[in-house]
Amino acid sequence: MASNIWLSMPLLMLSELESAMAMIEARDQKEILQVKDSWQEALEEASEILSWPDSLVIQYNPATWRSHHYVVSMRFITYPWDDLTVFEFTTPNNILPFDCLEQKFAKVGVMLHEIGHLVDDARWGIGLKASAEASEEFITGEQRAELFAFACHPVAAFEANLALVESTARLLGIDLGKHSKEVAAIETMGHAGLAGDADPIDVLKGIQDLGVPMDSILEGYLAIISFSMAGLTTVPEMNCSRGLGIKRPADLDRANWWLCQYLRDEMGLEELQEKLMGVDYFAFSEEGHDPLECLDFGYINRENAKENMSRARKYFGEEPCFRDLLRAVEALEARMSLAF
Ligand SMILES: [Zn+2]
Repeated sequence: MASNIWLSMPLLMLSELESAMAMIEARDQKEILQVKDSWQEALEEASEILSWPDSLVIQYNPATWRSHHYVVSMRFITYPWDDLTVFEFTTPNNILPFDCLEQKFAKVGVMLHEIGHLVDDARWGIGLKASAEASEEFITGEQRAELFAFACHPVAAFEANLALVESTARLLGIDLGKHSKEVAAIETMGHAGLAGDADPIDVLKGIQDLGVPMDSILEGYLAIISFSMAGLTTVPEMNCSRGLGIKRPADLDRANWWLCQYLRDEMGLEELQEKLMGVDYFAFSEEGHDPLECLDFGYINRENAKENMSRARKYFGEEPCFRDLLRAVEALEARMSLAF
């Protein structure tokens, strides 16, 4: 078992490897150190919400972005004397010269999501490697981690998705303005696999019709895949059940590609809907399946979660595009009051 000393250790310098990488990426070491410190703070905040026994080590590794296009990733290292889980952040780098998850809450949301993967792996008895393999076949593991982050701190989960939408726009030189929140709202719902009334096709087409190139955002999305059109979150045993929406990354990829064609007027709505039916796409939830049933509240600090729920109710009560998120928070609160 790794010691918790890493959680409270002040970070005063970069490792030699991190310094070398910063140099290769033509980044200022002080800048990287600041970003690393802010990830450490996010880890400490996430650790207060979640009781997860193992330690995480934060490292700057832009090579991961170059090889896999992940803005963050997790690596598990086994030493004869210890096991370490390494959390890697990959931006800023030479191609993405800014911190893609700049705001504090965005980082906390990502950290909760990553710990959510560890909790999920422990819960279903899958190792990090098997979990990575499963994620190539089904998106539900990714959704369970996001749903877990949402249950811990809804605003942080939303802000992580918002940061990725805004960073994508920044990289592409697109001004999304207030639309970034609308996009992040449907993205958060799909990423956490929650049922909502907003149809992502309508939302994205509405923005595209105002002259904002949403097709470019979808194509260049920094989170590898956009989850707006994803189905409902399920437990692993239900990975193959039908009628709950898209569950396979290849289908989600196809759906996003068809949606891009529709946004560019290269495909009509009828043809899009017909194609989407072939990959089990649903805009609304099926009766009888509640994604919140996937959650295990045992790891979550009760007082902290309560505080974050009331914060979320206030935050999501402010804009009409957050209606589905607000309803999800209310449903979560009701379920938490039964669980705790
Ligand atoms: Zn993930």
